Amino acid sequence: MQDINTLVRKNILSMLPYSSARDEYTGKKGIFLDANENPFGRYNRYPDPKQQLVKNALANLKQIAEENIFLGNGSDEVIDLLYRIFCEPGKDKALTFSPTYGMYKVAAAINDITLLEIPLNESFQIDFDAAEKMIASESPKLLFICSPNNPTGNSLLNIERLIKSFKGIVVIDEAYIDFSSQKSFINVALALPNVVVMQTLSKAWGLAAARVGMAFANPALIALFNRVKPPYNISLLNQQAAVEALQAIETFETNKATILNERKRLEILLESLPSVIKIYPSDANFILVAFNDADAVYNYLVQKEIITRNRHSVVKNAIRITVGSSLQNDALVKALSNFQLQAQ
Ligand code: PMP
Repeated sequence: MQDINTLVRKNILSMLPYSSARDEYTGKKGIFLDANENPFGRYNRYPDPKQQLVKNALANLKQIAEENIFLGNGSDEVIDLLYRIFCEPGKDKALTFSPTYGMYKVAAAINDITLLEIPLNESFQIDFDAAEKMIASESPKLLFICSPNNPTGNSLLNIERLIKSFKGIVVIDEAYIDFSSQKSFINVALALPNVVVMQTLSKAWGLAAARVGMAFANPALIALFNRVKPPYNISLLNQQAAVEALQAIETFETNKATILNERKRLEILLESLPSVIKIYPSDANFILVAFNDADAVYNYLVQKEIITRNRHSVVKNAIRITVGSSLQNDALVKALSNFQLQAQ
């Protein structure tokens, strides 16, 4: 097994991680005068820095060990920590396949890292020859693979090929995996030294407000996240919301099934509209749709107080539409049919 530490920034390996009051004394009973907390109130105590209750619920759900789980303040925090752990500012590079999730680039810029981008092909799949050439010539430290991909919606195929050959850290962003028919790469990540799978409670678990993102990897890699994270990165309220959601598995399954049915229904309804040029296949809770004039459709929908995401700047004339409730989807389709009437 490759020693992961050869990929880590030297300062991260040599630093002494912060040790909080809750790290140093983990007992639950007693008079706590160790963390300069206020003795009064409901939310006066710092939360569990290791988020054991959330990890326990997740470990049971995924049938993995708690030591294989890191929790971030959204998966956006996980992305930022990956740059900070592995990439030397002003020197190292990362690679991704565009169009894809925008935070890989923003977090790279914040950390003064160059993000190399290889365009996905016409089917929104990876161009492996271009990727392998780029990896050989630029030696990126991180490889971000978003599958299902945002904003295209499809799953990326043959990721295994890059997992096998890439010598840096492979990050597979599975934010939308619960809506997909593809298998998660969690078990692959757990068996390898250099693969991280990211998931989130923001999508299928309906917890975007609570900001809970997950990273799954081998314990050595998880330990690096814990070295660098802010001590209390998930608030008590957010941990409670996460545990509550993870226990309500039936609600999760019901809502997910409803969203998947609605995705199918919405695809069929959209297909019948003359303004729609193309519906890209989706493995996520959104559909990328090409219109005859995306800017006009987007502005028209805003006027009708229906807000979608105009992605024309990244995919020609495309709008990304989140699958809503059946009422919301009906309102969208009704507005779009009227747009046709108006334009004719
Ligand atoms: N990855 C992808 C692909 C996303 O689309 C998003 C959110 N839109 C995230 C990560 C961030 O999710 P979180 O809410 O967990 O920060």
